[in-house]
Formats: sequence, C-alpha cells, structure tokens
Amino acid sequence: MILIHNFNAGPSILPEEVYQQASRAILNLNETGVSLLSIGHRTPEFVSILEEARSLVRELMELDDEHEVLFLHGGASMQFMQVPANLLAKHGVAAIADTGVWSTKAIREAEVFGKVEVVCSSKDTNYNYIPKDFAVPNDAAYLHITTNNTIYGTQWKEIPDTGLPLVADMSSDILSRKINFNRFALIYAGAQKNIGAAGVTLVVVNRRILGKIKRKIPTLLDYRNHIREQSLLSTPPVFAVYVAMLTLRWLKNNGGVAEMEKRNREKAAMLYKAIDEMPLFRAHVAAEDRSDMNVCFSMADKQLEPKFLQYCTENDIYGIAGHRLAGAFRASLYNALPRESVEHLIKVMKAFSAQFG
Ligand code: PMP
Repeated sequence: MILIHNFNAGPSILPEEVYQQASRAILNLNETGVSLLSIGHRTPEFVSILEEARSLVRELMELDDEHEVLFLHGGASMQFMQVPANLLAKHGVAAIADTGVWSTKAIREAEVFGKVEVVCSSKDTNYNYIPKDFAVPNDAAYLHITTNNTIYGTQWKEIPDTGLPLVADMSSDILSRKINFNRFALIYAGAQKNIGAAGVTLVVVNRRILGKIKRKIPTLLDYRNHIREQSLLSTPPVFAVYVAMLTLRWLKNNGGVAEMEKRNREKAAMLYKAIDEMPLFRAHVAAEDRSDMNVCFSMADKQLEPKFLQYCTENDIYGIAGHRLAGAFRASLYNALPRESVEHLIKVMKAFSAQFG
C-alpha cells in the first residue's frame, strides 16, 4: 500500500516486504525469541544471514571466482581512501574521471596516497554530461569512474574500455542494470540506495589486484584482511547486513538485475518524456547520458520552483528537492520505486502545469 511516493536520493525507498520483515526481525529473529539487534555476530544465525547476502550478490552480479564480496563499514566515502590505500603506490598514478562532486572526493583522497591524473572532466558545464574519447596514461594503476552521478543525473551508459584495471563507484546504480561486473577490478557502493539500509558498503574486489604495492596498510583498511575474515574483522553492521540480504532476496524473486533494468528504463523513459513534453519543466542532461536512477529537472520559471515543491508535498510526494549543490528537482527512481509513483508524479506535474502554466 503506497502512502507516500518516496523519491529520496538516499537513504531511499525499499520494498514494502523488506520493511515488514526487518521490523519483525527486530522484535524476534526467525522465531528465536531474540532481537536481530541483540544476536552475536558470530552466531550461526547471523553467519548464515551474512553468507546468504554474499551468495546473493555473487549470483545477481554473476561473479567469477576471482571476485570477492565484502560488507564493510564507513560508507562509499570511506572507499575514496581505502581504494588508493590498497591500490595506489606512492609514486604510482591513479587515472580518475571527474564527473561530479563524488568523483572530486575520490580525487582528493587518492592524492593523499599517490599521484592522480584527472583524465577527463565535465565540470565546465556543471557536470551535465559524461565525457567521451579521453586518453589515459597506460602506466596508471587503475581508472576510477563514478558510474552514476547521483547529484547531476548523469550515467555512464558505456563502460570505458581503456585496458587499465577499472574501479567504479556504483553507489547509485548498482544492481540496476546488466553490466559485466567481472570486468571491474573493484566495485564499491553504499547500501542506502539499491541495496538496503545505510550503514554497510558493498565492495566487490578481484583478488588479483591486491598485494601489488609495498605500502604498509592499516589492518582495517587492508582488503586482504577482510577477505580472510569474511567481513567479520570487526563487528559488522548487523541490521544493515540483514536488510541488504532481504533486499537482495526481493531482487532475485522479482526477476533479478535484467528485470530491474527493464523496469528502471521504463520508469525513467516515461518521466523524461513527460518533462520534455511540458513547457514548464526542463531536463538539463544530454539525452544520451541521462541517468535512469536520478532524473534531475528544473523549471523554466525559477520562481515557480518553491510553489511546485509545496504542491508535491501536498500531493504525497516526498524527497523530490534537488541536491543542495544542484538545486531544483531530482526524482530518484531506484529499483524499489514502484512504477505507480512515477505515474503519480507525472499526473501531479500535469495538474500543476494546467493550473500555473
Ligand atoms: N558516491 C556516490 C555516487 C554517492 O551518491 C554517494 C552518496 N549519495 C557517495 C558516494 C557517498 O556515500 P556515503 O554517504 O555512503 O559515504
């Protein structure tokens, strides 16, 4: 039952059944009489939850045996530094594509550990496109891209093939479309959009990329330790891992990544079409780079924007305001957002246009 249409960019909407099951587990996990929040993280109950989550990631992403699945703390932001701590030697080079604020944070952290070459940037137009045809230094340790730029609504539709090991921040489009995930040396994603609740970060890493640099890495930063301890190096975020497992189960039971991609494409196409057709609204991203996850738009008459925001609130639409750096509006259409919510938003935009256009 939809009470509010939740377009928040993250933490974002999750499937209704995940809310129900997670609530029940807090009171009584699987009829054990114990709350999920109060079980030991090394008990068979929790270890089987962690193992199920891991194996669902492997299955949904169709990972090969070289890739390890880790559930870590610290958000995607922690990975901005954990990646170079493990992969970038002091005199090595990291090639990084600058497609927005999250990329610039990855650049800043990598510079703490080695050299960075910013191989392309769309900063000139406030990040409203994805750069194409750029060159990379062929001695770079890796190329880092942000596959979906949550704030600006751009998405790499084609994953660049440069010959360098690929590292990707997939926080806002993981498991939303079919990609050959095995092509990546390392993928990371904060859970709070397509995977589950905030508090856990998914890292998928190819074992072969590790151990190539001489730097001493602090224990908790070294991916090899997390692999060895199977994500139990310190107490894992038990609740967030459980919610991730439930969300991954839901994803599998709803047709997996291919079905999510189909639904996401339809939702996004429907909304972009409506925006393009209504003179009051406009999308600023180049058509071929438009994100299926975050649809950013503004109004021809800026003065109407607060009015439209208020109108949305009155019509049960939540989380539609743009990021504070981009302003205007952003509708996030992650996997769990039902198609009916997009239809409702379009109806509300049309009604507003009829009244104020
Ligand atoms: N990368 C991207 C693409 C993001 O959208 C976000 C958060 N919205 C982050 C990184 C930062 O994630 P966290 O808050 O989990 O550190």
